[in-house]
Amino acid sequence: MRFLTALAAFSLTTVGLATPASATPVPTKTPTAQGYGGAIATVDPTATAAGLEVLRRGGNAVDAAVAAAATLGVTEPFASGIGGGGFFVYYDARTHRVHTIDGRETGPATMTSTYFVNPATGQPYAFDEARVSGLSVGVPGTLATWEAASRQWGTRSLGNALNDAAKVADRGYTVDAEFRRQVTENAAAFGQFDATKALYLPGGAPPAVGTTIRNPDLAKTYRLIARKGTGAFYRGEIGKDLLATVRSPEISDSPTSPWAYPIRPGVLTASDLAKYQVRHPAPTKADYKGLTVYGMSTPSSGGTTVSEALNILEASPLDGASTTEKLHYYLEASALAFADRGRYLGAGTPQARLRELVSDRWAKQRACQISPDRALVKPVAPGPSGCTPSVTAATPDKGMSTTNLTVADRWGNVVEYTLTLEQFGGNAMIVPGRGFMLNNELTDFNFTGTQGAFDDPNLPGPGKRPRSSMSPTIVLKDGKPFLAVGAPGGSTIITTVLQIVYGRLDLGLTLPQALAAPRAAQRNTPGIQAEPAFHTTYGPALTPLGHVFGADAPEIGAATAIEFTAHGGQLAVAEPVRRGGGAAAVVHPGR
Ligand code: GLU
Repeated sequence: MRFLTALAAFSLTTVGLATPASATPVPTKTPTAQGYGGAIATVDPTATAAGLEVLRRGGNAVDAAVAAAATLGVTEPFASGIGGGGFFVYYDARTHRVHTIDGRETGPATMTSTYFVNPATGQPYAFDEARVSGLSVGVPGTLATWEAASRQWGTRSLGNALNDAAKVADRGYTVDAEFRRQVTENAAAFGQFDATKALYLPGGAPPAVGTTIRNPDLAKTYRLIARKGTGAFYRGEIGKDLLATVRSPEISDSPTSPWAYPIRPGVLTASDLAKYQVRHPAPTKADYKGLTVYGMSTPSSGGTTVSEALNILEASPLDGASTTEKLHYYLEASALAFADRGRYLGAGTPQARLRELVSDRWAKQRACQISPDRALVKPVAPGPSGCTPSVTAATPDKGMSTTNLTVADRWGNVVEYTLTLEQFGGNAMIVPGRGFMLNNELTDFNFTGTQGAFDDPNLPGPGKRPRSSMSPTIVLKDGKPFLAVGAPGGSTIITTVLQIVYGRLDLGLTLPQALAAPRAAQRNTPGIQAEPAFHTTYGPALTPLGHVFGADAPEIGAATAIEFTAHGGQLAVAEPVRRGGGAAAVVHPGR
């Protein structure tokens, strides 16, 4: 996890296995780096350093992305890791094509639409009741993603990345304030499981800032997979332990605090695990002001929703508009696209519908609902629509976790990769003896229908993947990379990516400014969720137009991005402040 070098040198207490070696030294953290020869941005300086080292030694963007992700599985264990899933978007400089990997978690073959309905009451489980259970765990796709990416486009074996990251797990990393915050928020859930307590609640409480966490079990797991291949996970001994944890969670006899719900077993089987495969859906594609925007298709709603909103903005009369007017249209376009997301997007959305949603024709009939001087009443109804607005019922959403990384190499290949366990800390269970946390991704399904008389596209189903909002995005200009960006943050991922692209392309911001700018998310809810700085800066001008602000969020999304500048230059950007700040680096600094 991110931390100051000075404090790392004075690490006082050691958690996990005590060894004389000190924690992995933490490289300097800078949010912006400009240069050439390869660039990387992640939320964590140790992961950025791991990826940078691979780039320096001649590895390509895919090698560096996998190295950084394997390191994040150690140092940012609550947001990602081999117990989770994600979406990988890759621009291949040789073929000029954009490819994707759908490494989303998958539900059990026996899953039905009432999976999250309590049979005893007929009511859906409370969110935390579903989350902290074996039921929420989907078959993880992260390891299969790393393997597929390395095999197809990499030059280095997955084993190399895992062995390097295992060293970080052995040497340990230093707890910073953000890490401690994530444990503190999860202390009650973590405290229900001895394996999780032992690693992250030393002495029954969140680890103090400055202490070192080592994870020798994870180091062993990584090395075992490096030696035996991913079969050890999907069909072998690690998988066996994973299934045992899912199917009969080892609940502590002495939890650190009470838990409000029974902790239910899951139903994943060895066959579910063995059958897991990544997919390679065609990327979503939208033309926006002469640029081509590539994103992630279903089961993520990210690419389609970002594309639709950009198309709506392009169809809107914004020439010469003021910042307030542009933000008004940004919020409206986002709400309209979210209405369509709720109605139409899920793992099984037909291709024809996906094409329709990102077409200019669709955008036109949505854009014509927007009035220049009056905000639509939210929630707006999904399309197809005439130009007269109509209102529907709201679909709630939650979540702020996940992690994202952006990498480019000297040859011009680009990776945009978002990965997650769903909530920070996933389902709160460490697989005993294996050192990694399990996801709770299946809670991304809607527990009951949200679309009234219409079918809900995101209800659980046999072997189905839950809808995601992850939006790894690569923008091309004249067929060459111009910008790559992605973010964490539940369904605010979509608004964060949209706002950064819009900020860079339409609001006159540089890329570092576009990432740092205060954010607001209008996800077709009555109130906008905004960061306080957005609310205070733009609220006074937006409120008279009819925009309503709900409760502020302290921060929305810790994004990373790279812009490709003239003469092969690369500008890598991470957050200056959010989530404690991220780390950007380039192989050869300079302009
Ligand atoms: N599970 C969420 C998704 O796939 C991401 C979790 C989060 O960022 O809170 O969209």
